[in-house]
Order: sequence, then structure tokens, then C-alpha cells
Amino acid sequence: MPRTILHIDMDAFFASVEQRVHPELSGRPVAVCGANARTVVLTASYEARAFGVKTGMTLPEARALCPGLIVVPGDHDRYIDVSRRLVEIYQDYTPTVEVFSVDEAFLDVTASRTLFGDGESIAAAIKHRVRRETGLTASVGIGPNKLLAKLASGLKKPDGLVRIELENLPIFLENLPVKALCGIGPNLGRALAEMGIRTCGELGRAPLERLTGRFGIIGRSLKAMGQGQDDRPVVPAEEEPEAKSIGHGMTLARDSSRPEEIEQHLLHLSEMVGRRARRNRLAGNVVTLTLRYADFQTFTRQRRIKTFLNDGIEIHLEARRIFRAVRLQQAVRLVGVSLSGLSRDAGQIPLFEADRKRRRLIAAMDGINDRHGGWTVRWGTLLTRDPHKTVISPAWRPKGVRDYD
Ligand SMILES: [Mg+2]
Repeated sequence: MPRTILHIDMDAFFASVEQRVHPELSGRPVAVCGANARTVVLTASYEARAFGVKTGMTLPEARALCPGLIVVPGDHDRYIDVSRRLVEIYQDYTPTVEVFSVDEAFLDVTASRTLFGDGESIAAAIKHRVRRETGLTASVGIGPNKLLAKLASGLKKPDGLVRIELENLPIFLENLPVKALCGIGPNLGRALAEMGIRTCGELGRAPLERLTGRFGIIGRSLKAMGQGQDDRPVVPAEEEPEAKSIGHGMTLARDSSRPEEIEQHLLHLSEMVGRRARRNRLAGNVVTLTLRYADFQTFTRQRRIKTFLNDGIEIHLEARRIFRAVRLQQAVRLVGVSLSGLSRDAGQIPLFEADRKRRRLIAAMDGINDRHGGWTVRWGTLLTRDPHKTVISPAWRPKGVRDYD
């Protein structure tokens, strides 16, 4: 039986939320970014896009294109809050909601059709409720699978509703560039182009052996993608396989070669990693340090430890130990800390009273921070840092513990 899959993609999500909260921004060119001057544009409003401002641009680049650009630091708690409300709306139509990013979700509404009508009716109802309850617009794609639903949502933005029908599929795919497919990024697109494959039609007709000879087993999925086939299920968050790592990274306000400054960032990042691990009741025994140099070369090294950690200070000590063994080759542009080798935190009571005290203190801090949000209570050493400088990436998910990077 053919499935009916929706892909819902909020239009200029962060910027639209800001325009909704600050009505004086509506109708004006807005770019949402981190508070750090070196971060990039996370989302531009449609008014800013009209000037060519795009996600990923640096602020000077964006301002050069759009002199009247209004730059707004992102407020990730607010986006998470709106994202949760959106998912609640979707769940009124089907339990099978896969949150793909902070502003995108896949819904399998195959079984909901008897209750709510066909895919278009459900999509229209959801768009209506999203607008009424959040004031935001969404673009919805409808297709027989995730690949085509995602493709469809991108065809008409903003506020679109597009269905890709199986009957017209071959004509539709014939001249469609392969890079339009979710999953075919610039590198893969280039490799295919080198083989003379530029359109989905060409990809779908390419001999399987040629594709597997070049790409290994993914050659088979590539050929299927070229034909618009995709049998991946929509997986609700609670069924997702457990995260393999928890990490945070940040671009420094300016390149730094000062160890004490870098270590301060490592402490902050380690605290964030520890807190996220504790919130998900996980602990890990591998700490990884990532440094990206000014020329974008990336250095990564990990340490496996005997015990499982989720205390930010302990994670920091391990990250710092790795860092202190590194001879910096250049100034550092980005630092990252991640925790892997994750397992359920059994919550064992430590042997020594000092450790028991520390565990109670951390639990109390987490409790306060969970209730009052963000970083109400922090270790003294962190107080010199502005916690809001780290802004959520669009790859954030409200459930699970996916990487931010
Ligand atoms: Mg979007």
C-alpha cells in the first residue's frame, strides 16, 4: 500500500519567531546569529534573503549585501519552546512524527487518512493550526516517501503545499539535478558529475555496478534515489537508537593561541556536555577534544578513561589533559568537547563522602537550572563567560541527544 508522508519545514524559522516576538521587525530584513561576532547567519528573514543574505554567511558578508540588515542574537530556549509546540500540533494528526531538526519534521499520516482525509487535507489542517497557534508559516511537502516529501516541501517556499505524485514521477525526476535530493551534498554531487551523472534521470539509469564500483554499498541507495525510491520509515524520536556521543563546539570570538583562554572555553563546553549527559541519564568513558586551527585544519584526539563520567569538571580535566599534551601549530579558531562510550548512568552512590556531596550539589544545580532555565547557577569559574554566546544550531532536536555540530 502506498504511504503518505508529509515533510513540514518552517519558513525562515528563527527569523520568523523573532519577527513574531518583536513585531517591529516584521517586514524588515532580519538575520539571526549568535552573539559572538564571528558566528554566522543562522537564519535570514525573507526580506533579507531578497538581498542575497543566506544561512552560513559571516556578518560582514551579509551586511555588505544588505546595509539595513537587522542582526538579532538567537534565543535558543525560545526556539525550542516553539519547536515543542509544533510537534504537539503534529502529534494530534499522527503518533508517527520524526523530528528531523529544530524546524523540520516528517509525519507518516498513512493510517490517519481514514480520520482526517487525504494528505492535502491533513497538510492544510496542520498549516492552519500552526499559523493560528504560533503565528508562523510552514511549507509542507507530500510524497510516497521521505525523499520525495522533503523534495516537495522545498519546491514552493514560503507557505507552500506541494504533492509529488507517483504517476508523474519519471517526468519530474528526468531533468532534476541530483543535488536537489536530500543526502546528495556538494562532494557526492561532484563525484557523480565526474561520472557524467547530473540529473536524477541519469542517476536512476546508471548501471548499478558502476555506482557500487565507485561508492560501495551506498551505490545501491543512490540508484534508488535517482528513481525516487526510498523505503526508510518515519521514526518517532522515542524509538531512535541511542546517541553515540554528546558534544558541543564553539567558534572563538577571535583566533586564540592563549592556553588559559582556550582552557576556559573547554571548561564551559565540558559543563554543557556534562549537563546534557545528566539530563539524558547517560555517562561516558571517552572524552574527545577537537581544535580547529585558523586555516580550518582540524585536530581531534580522544582519551578513554576507566570510569564513566558526566560531571562537567571531570570531563574538563580530561579534555584539558589532552589539550596540555598538544603543541599548538597555529592560533585556534574553534574548540569542541564531546563525550562518547555512553551508557546509562546507573546513579551509583559514590564511596567517599566528598564525592557524595559533590553529586548532591550537581543534582541541586541541575534542578535549579532545569526549573529556571539556562545557566542560572554555574560554577564560579564559568561566570566570566557569556552563556548565551553558544546558540543552538538548526540541527538541534527536541528529543534525544543528537550532536549540535
Ligand atoms: Mg526551515
